[in-house]
Amino acid sequence: MGASAGKQQGRLAGKTALVTGGSRGIGRGIAERLGRDGALVAVHYGSNEEAAKETVAAIEAAGGAAFAIGAELGAAGDAQALWSAFDAHADGVDILVNNAGVSTASSFADTDEAEYDRLFAVNMKAPYFITQLGAERLRDGGRIINISSGLSQAAVMPEILTYAMTKGALDVFTRNLSKVLGPRGITVNAVAPGIVDTDINAAWLRGEENKDAWASSAAMSALGRVGDPSDIADVVAFLASDDGRWVTGQWIDATGGSLA
Ligand code: NAP
Repeated sequence: MGASAGKQQGRLAGKTALVTGGSRGIGRGIAERLGRDGALVAVHYGSNEEAAKETVAAIEAAGGAAFAIGAELGAAGDAQALWSAFDAHADGVDILVNNAGVSTASSFADTDEAEYDRLFAVNMKAPYFITQLGAERLRDGGRIINISSGLSQAAVMPEILTYAMTKGALDVFTRNLSKVLGPRGITVNAVAPGIVDTDINAAWLRGEENKDAWASSAAMSALGRVGDPSDIADVVAFLASDDGRWVTGQWIDATGGSLA
């Protein structure tokens, strides 16, 4: 066991957090924010260890504590591999953020079975079993925060409906699990980003093919801009803190008013 919780200062001092897909994008924003709030942060990655190391270094540079753990999600035994890696560093968790996810551009007509299975395996099956195996490690009074999407509640991008369906399933999981784990004082919520500037949509958002993508994405938000990972991280930080103790089973719109 290497890193230890409890040495940091801040409203999450003494807490340990695990952020799946914490190495890049929204997950990195969440990991850095929870680290600044004093949590010991497990930064999970799939294949890009370098990105995870950079995130750990950024957290440490800001005075926080973190470690990286690798596990490819969507593969057999993924949740067990993730927790085995985690267990080598820490002996329990207070905040589990199921953030890692994948998207594809395939439409209803084009999605084949392999792509369908992959989307559900990474976006829904992995959070399910990570949470199931994590429940015994999660301390009473803990937090589970699932990163959903505005697309689960509004058909604004029907061209990627399979991705939206995975997030809809995650929302149902969230609501029901809040009742299962509520007796232990554990809250379970979903945070739903709108369009956020990350690698997941970089080809479309910043690509040459659709030069209007950035402006039209910004225009979708009532606030007139594309989201930043920090916009989502701050909402997660609220739910993770004691201030969020009475919020559970909820789907929190963090789309900057894109669905308003
Ligand atoms: P991103 O920039 O592509 O980062 C994805 C993260 O998840 C990386 O850390 C990646 O690690 C990890 N990951 C992906 N597939 C994995 C796999 N099979 N096994 C293990 N790790 C894997 O994505 P993002 O935009 O930050 O998205 C984060 C979450 O927000 C996702 O659940 C996404 O659906 C949701 N979301 C995003 C947006 C948006 O506009 N960006 C909007 C709504 C919801 P490696 O690099 O090591 O694989």
